[in-house]
Amino acid sequence: MTVPLRLVAERILLTALREQDAAAVALAARERAQFLADASLSFAASLDLELTYAAIAGATLPELDGWCIVDVVETGGATRRLPVTHSAFDAELVARLLGATWATGIDDPIGIRAVQRARSPVGLGNLALVPTAARAERARRLLAELGVGPLLVVPIAARGELLGALSFICRVGAPPFTAEDGELAESLAIRCAQALEGARLYAANSAARTEAEVARAEAEEAKIAAEEARGVAELANATKSHFLSTMSHELRTPLNAIAGYAQLIELGIRGPVTPEQLTDLAGIQRSQAHLLSLVESVLNYAQLEGGRVVYTLADVPLLELLDGVEDFVRPQMRAKSLRYSGHSCARDIRVRADAGKVRQIVLNLLANAVKFTASGGEVSMECLDGHDLAESDQGRTPMHAVRVSDSGIGIAASKLASIFDPFVQVLGRGLVAQDVGVGLGLAISRELARGMGGDLTVESTLGAGSVFLLTLPAV
Ligand code: ADP
Repeated sequence: MTVPLRLVAERILLTALREQDAAAVALAARERAQFLADASLSFAASLDLELTYAAIAGATLPELDGWCIVDVVETGGATRRLPVTHSAFDAELVARLLGATWATGIDDPIGIRAVQRARSPVGLGNLALVPTAARAERARRLLAELGVGPLLVVPIAARGELLGALSFICRVGAPPFTAEDGELAESLAIRCAQALEGARLYAANSAARTEAEVARAEAEEAKIAAEEARGVAELANATKSHFLSTMSHELRTPLNAIAGYAQLIELGIRGPVTPEQLTDLAGIQRSQAHLLSLVESVLNYAQLEGGRVVYTLADVPLLELLDGVEDFVRPQMRAKSLRYSGHSCARDIRVRADAGKVRQIVLNLLANAVKFTASGGEVSMECLDGHDLAESDQGRTPMHAVRVSDSGIGIAASKLASIFDPFVQVLGRGLVAQDVGVGLGLAISRELARGMGGDLTVESTLGAGSVFLLTLPAV
């Protein structure tokens, strides 16, 4: 059977047409792929957020007879409409659409609101599909007045988070958007989302890095400032200590000479001395001794401050350390008719301390007790076993203590903390010139006590007397 020529011709034509269709489809697919690849490149050209915004503001669809509005949700949650950089419409229309006349609200047919409502592409073949709420009705009328036809809105989203929306707008009379247009718009939105996410991550990273760098720089600056301040303070301290110790040395030499010459005269070596002259000489010697003790205090303090004090620590019974120390103040006690009670220590109360320094502290406490107690008063010294000490007087290691009490003038509560500071004196009435020190005795004593691992504290009531407690590490 022969096939009619017409049929053959028809088949050939059909095949040719099919092939032409397939070629057209393949070309369209290639063009779409190329379009998306170009878009990806341009959106992700920069990691800077603002430059990325500028790039995606240029989003469009191939052969779109209209234009695209890009909205983004910023990091704080605010929405921002990016400037329209390409437009086939006239500038005035763009201005009106984006300007105040455009009422954005929950029924907004384009932008973020539209995709928030739908959570998927909002394809609007024509304006009749714009939501019908009253507000949307106004928007619809406005769009119609502006000559706007088909709309297509797709969300820009990543990992469930809405990052923005692409709204494609056509002229009235333009052909409605097709399903392929919808798919292409979605693919374009995915590229936008990737670019936005990358830029946001980069911005967050840079911010965190900058913050960390600023914090590091500030910490570094603070450290340098603290080191400088410490350096200045140390230098000032060293200079002061050096000055004090040099001066004290220089002063001691002529003071000792004064004592020597006074003694020569007193002994009659330079010729006969009258009783009046002897009285004057005694005055010179008292003043010399007092001045020497002041100078000694300053030297002592300068050595402590300069860290030049050496402690020779040994395990000793407290009894031995205190033995006879009160003898140094007995003449003054007798002169003021003070009653003294010295409680003897148990032999097994042993401390680790520098004997000379303990005696220096205790003597200073006794001298103060005598100095600040009026005639007829009482002074006492006793040893305390660590078990008898209050919890607050115990250090990290077990302590024993020496307690020096008096019934003297006492110290006001407001002054209690400062009497251990150097050069602090709470001057009371009734002190004679020789009694006036430089306010270093307690500062030195406490430093020495602490230098041996102990402490020196005070309890006092104004007008009722004072109790000084010297604690020392027990052995
Ligand atoms: P000063 O050389 O003036 O005695 P201190 O450092 O020994 O210096 O004492 C400082 C101040 O503490 C004294 O000026 C005095 O006001 C007060 N003070 C010290 N001991 C006693 C005490 N037993 N009773 C009352 N006040 C005291």
